[in-house]
Amino acid sequence: MKILVPVKRVIDYNVKPRVKADGSGVDLANVKMSMNPFDEIAVEEAIRLKEAGKAEEIIAVSVGPAKAQETLRTALAMGADRAILVETDEEVEPLAVAKILKAIAAEENPGLVMLGKQSISDDSNQTGQMLAALMERPQGTFANTVEVDGDSVTVKREIDGGLETVKLTMPAIVTTDLRLNEPRYASLPNIMKAKKKPLDTKTPADFGVDIAPRLTTTNVSEPPVRQAGEKVEDVDALVAKLKALGVA
Ligand code: AMP
Repeated sequence: MKILVPVKRVIDYNVKPRVKADGSGVDLANVKMSMNPFDEIAVEEAIRLKEAGKAEEIIAVSVGPAKAQETLRTALAMGADRAILVETDEEVEPLAVAKILKAIAAEENPGLVMLGKQSISDDSNQTGQMLAALMERPQGTFANTVEVDGDSVTVKREIDGGLETVKLTMPAIVTTDLRLNEPRYASLPNIMKAKKKPLDTKTPADFGVDIAPRLTTTNVSEPPVRQAGEKVEDVDALVAKLKALGVA
């Protein structure tokens, strides 16, 4: 079985994003970029399935600028076997990414497409669901546990207040949640080896996908500045304050 793992290049999660002065978006100039953290979890899960003998090949794919090659090399250094870069100049919306992934899946026939539950850049949480709909295949989103058995995959999903278990017939789409696993660091020898692994470059046109945006971002703004807190002497004073505010 092949596993397709879409990985997105996003602002590193340790970086505090700066909003552009004209409110048109987030300033990406000279900002450290990394693999979307949920996608690292997806790569890790795919590698674990391969190590357990449940998968033969892991293909990482990224839709983005030429620099997304670095993200793909990270996936290869972690343990993916080969990579596909679908090169674009601008940010591509989830629907177009899903259409590109559908076309790649039609060529590669993966048993599983393992995506992150959301990218921390746009917080869309859409691509996996859209892909499942376009491919007319089952989806197990927000995966906390993934178990492959024969031609089915059992996914424990994180839902409000607990876990839901679903059994999907493969090919299937899985999106990863935070607690699924702890991704490994790529070792130096593996980083060196990854440089020799195959990385194919394509364009959206190769898959006949129109990536023209359907959405217009009208404004991006900083969150409101948090007000300073206030210290109270004791619990009675706290309760009195809360009562005065009408919240107790
Ligand atoms: P989103 O729907 O944008 O929140 O993204 C959900 C998941 O879809 C991500 O965690 C990735 O696995 C995948 N994805 C979204 N955009 C891209 C992209 N440009 N390239 C590769 N994978 C992507």
